[in-house]
Amino acid sequence: MKPAALAVIGGGVMGASVAYHLATRGRRDVVILDRADGPGAGSTGRATGGYRAQFGTAINVRLSLLAREKLLRFADETGVDPGYVPAGYLWLATSAAELDALRKGREVQHAEGLHEAAEVSPDDIARLNPAIRLDGIVGGAFCPSDGFIRPLKILEGYLAAAERLGVRVEWGTEVTALRRDETGRIVGVETTRGMVAVEGVIDAAGPWAAGVAAMAEVALPVTPLRRQIATTMPCDLLPAEMPMTIWAGDGFHLRVRDGRVLLLWPTPGAPGRPFDASVDPAWVDAVVTMAHARVPLLRRATIDRAGSWAGLYEMSPDKHAILGPASECPNLYFINGSSGHGVMHSPALGQLLAEIICDGRASTLDVACLDASRFEAGEAIDGAGVL
Ligand SMILES: Cc1cc2nc3c(=O)[nH]c(=O)nc-3n(C[C@H](O)[C@H](O)[C@H](O)COP(=O)(O)OP(=O)(O)OC[C@H]3O[C@@H](n4cnc5c(N)ncnc54)[C@H](O)[C@@H]3O)c2cc1C
Repeated sequence: MKPAALAVIGGGVMGASVAYHLATRGRRDVVILDRADGPGAGSTGRATGGYRAQFGTAINVRLSLLAREKLLRFADETGVDPGYVPAGYLWLATSAAELDALRKGREVQHAEGLHEAAEVSPDDIARLNPAIRLDGIVGGAFCPSDGFIRPLKILEGYLAAAERLGVRVEWGTEVTALRRDETGRIVGVETTRGMVAVEGVIDAAGPWAAGVAAMAEVALPVTPLRRQIATTMPCDLLPAEMPMTIWAGDGFHLRVRDGRVLLLWPTPGAPGRPFDASVDPAWVDAVVTMAHARVPLLRRATIDRAGSWAGLYEMSPDKHAILGPASECPNLYFINGSSGHGVMHSPALGQLLAEIICDGRASTLDVACLDASRFEAGEAIDGAGVL
């Protein structure tokens, strides 16, 4: 294999974004190595395509706002439409405590400039999403600039634009080992298609990122978490422009995509099988029961069990991204642990990591709080709460 200065391990949306942003900074000596046969085999291909800036921590709001700015320019930059549709995110509270948590999140959002995020009453909710059964709902939150994006289009756009700028993409190439020299730097990447001599390595392996870091004997606290999606058969029961609608208490949510209604409800994952991304039929039964109770007209929909799917979130201990160099290995960089928000944040995180690699620090945003060292330093981000 030809030598490359920078090897990006993983050609999902994170690897593609950082490779593109490195190339725009003049780094043409970048190679993306991915064991899959083509794009979208990892989590990026499983994502539903939600975008939101309604988060409860300043750093997540800032990442979303930077990403939104970049999504608005994405088609001009890459030639591909990222599918950003500001249909809104509608959060529903069924208790005063949930409403209060949404209010606390909104204080952070407003302080970061997301002024369009607002509290909504049950009457507002009935107007924003008339299909919802309002019993027990005490209020909620709505942000009209949240909405939807197309994960595979963002991946396609970044990969194509990166390749045009000289980045090489090697599919069918599994990384099996990382070689470090006596100073601790990684000097070679062993793959199923040969050895690549490198100056630096970017771990963009999504839910498998801890395994890649372990090849350099570096501990990265990223773990997989299964997320399942039940889909209806195509139907016109709900409008395409319906906002993403989320019950703050248990995370049940639904949206319309390509004429189907997608139903989601977060659960702990398959016991003892962390990388299992199969769909549990009992989970589908449960989520459909929830949907029938909360959105009664969905009783008329047919569930497409065969078309339902699952994928893996890449969880970090505080549910925030891990970005920047590994403290135990000076030329290993992380772009990991987005904990279910990776597609929406990938435009921002790729740019910020390219700044760190090229300039030694990120200049667009202060991302020191995302450094991997925060966990050992007792500086994990306090992201507890419904957002
Ligand atoms: C069901 C579901 C719904 C989601 N919904 C949303 C959403 O609405 N909005 C949002 O922003 N995010 C969402 N996410 C999260 C989002 O999908 C991820 O955060 C994002 O895709 C992570 O991108 P990635 O590039 O890090 O990982 P991936 O897309 O998983 O890419 C990692 C790549 O690394 C490769 N790889 C792994 N190990 C090796 C190796 N040893 N050698 C070579 N290649 C290797 C894999 O083949 C893979 O292609 C969702 C995730 C799931 C599962």
